Amino acid sequence: MTNCVHVDRNGDNTKSYQQIVDNWLQGEVAAFPTETVYGLGADARNAQAIAKIYEAKGRPSDNPLIVHIGQIEQLQGFIDHVPEKAKLAIEAFWPGPLTAILPLKSGALAENVSAGLSTVGVRMPSHPVARELLTLANMPIAAPSANRSGKPSPTAASHVLEDLEGRIPYIVDGGPATAGLESTIVDFTVEPPALLRPGSITEEMLISVIGELQGAGRLRDQDAPKAPGMKYTHYAPEAPVLLAFLDDEDVTDKIEQLRSQGKRVALVATDSYRGLPHDAFVSLGESNEIEAVSSRLFAALRECNQLPIDVIVAAAYPAEGIGKALMNRLEKAAGGNWL
Ligand code: AMP
Ligand code: MG
Repeated sequence: MTNCVHVDRNGDNTKSYQQIVDNWLQGEVAAFPTETVYGLGADARNAQAIAKIYEAKGRPSDNPLIVHIGQIEQLQGFIDHVPEKAKLAIEAFWPGPLTAILPLKSGALAENVSAGLSTVGVRMPSHPVARELLTLANMPIAAPSANRSGKPSPTAASHVLEDLEGRIPYIVDGGPATAGLESTIVDFTVEPPALLRPGSITEEMLISVIGELQGAGRLRDQDAPKAPGMKYTHYAPEAPVLLAFLDDEDVTDKIEQLRSQGKRVALVATDSYRGLPHDAFVSLGESNEIEAVSSRLFAALRECNQLPIDVIVAAAYPAEGIGKALMNRLEKAAGGNWL
């Protein structure tokens, strides 16, 4: 049985938060909202609690977790030292969607948090619910995205329930996650620092603060072998996904070709593309702004699972700025396949 704890952003939620903190102290897991996606949290010092995260998600044990904190002072408890460039980036982008890979203080966290590595990913979320909860907890909370491994990341409490109902004791429902794409990951244990996963803190933003960045300009995670989890398929709805630049002249013909083969096509796009042929239309919203599209992507991929369709055609975007993070997730959902 999974309890859904609703929190009101304008009210006093201390009692609800205390319930979740007690649950964490007892070695249990709980899902909570962040500004990127919903996370599935547990006490990062407790190996048995961390094992429950891997089990609930069906996550391979060589895919390390990100540790979340509410206050910067908590770093001292488990980080060996903070490299100078990491300090600059932390000052510029925390709280926010930047995960810093930092040298772990030996023995400070359960080994299964970092999958045995001597480094650990850390982030201080800006979502008010996450921050208040993590500050009250005052312990490092390891939290991957709160979905079954391989499924699109959850951007609403209902998505968490879809995947994990009955598998976890608590979900904190704090409304939708606003960014909708997971954090940017940068490894600060190498010089120059290396971009391991693109996100809404863009390469340009990072370079303006820390100077050089390795791996900038690359789109595919395969090129970044230091991010262990990235070899796995991700974000995939049940039907196969094909990417397409929807302004291309031959898109209509190609979709019609699929339909003439008896395939029912779901078109995942912003409303301006409703005129293209489709059997089902899953809206990425009205706005073509990349932030708005990104915040809707995972929910749209999940919606496809409810529809009687055979193939998904998803709108592609130029891989620039946040578009790079969006295309990184879309390429994975599509397994690299284009219309
Ligand atoms: P998720 O929490 O589902 O967004 O996944 C977290 C991702 O962070 C993993 O898939 C890893 O690729 C990455 N990560 C976490 N810790 C480390 C680390 N110490 N070194 C490199 N990558 C890491
Ligand atoms: Mg994930």
